Amino acid sequence: MSEPLHIVCPHCHTTNRVRQDDLAKAPGCGQCHRALFGGRSAALDEAAFDRHIQRNQIPVLVDFWAPWCGPCRQMAPAFEQAAAQLEPQARLAKVNTEEAPTLAARFQIRSIPTLALFVGGREVARQPGAMGAADIVRWAKSHLGATAFS
Ligand code: ZN
Repeated sequence: MSEPLHIVCPHCHTTNRVRQDDLAKAPGCGQCHRALFGGRSAALDEAAFDRHIQRNQIPVLVDFWAPWCGPCRQMAPAFEQAAAQLEPQARLAKVNTEEAPTLAARFQIRSIPTLALFVGGREVARQPGAMGAADIVRWAKSHLGATAFS
């Protein structure tokens, strides 16, 4: 049960191998030595996005947002609270659709904020509209099943 998982560093985007038993023990990145799980979301540009989606062996919950969007800014603190609660079982990440318009186009993001949940490189759920922290956590867990959060 202790197969190492691939965890992409939210800071330098290096792929780390972390034993499942060590996930909750504040593992650090082998490359940049910063915390792999700091209770905060990772800001992803287009290059980093694909690394995180494809290589992370934990689910990745993405908030597609933009600086000019009021509801997005309002939801930002809730998303960070959700990150603190969902780590290390999931990675929470933010994509600024103004800086990464090709990602917004690729995933056909029609309204922001939009949350999208990726597992194994595949989008498994999507939810447009702002949510509170508790709702974000509940929504993510409802799509991941109990086993991922036991
Ligand atoms: Zn790193």
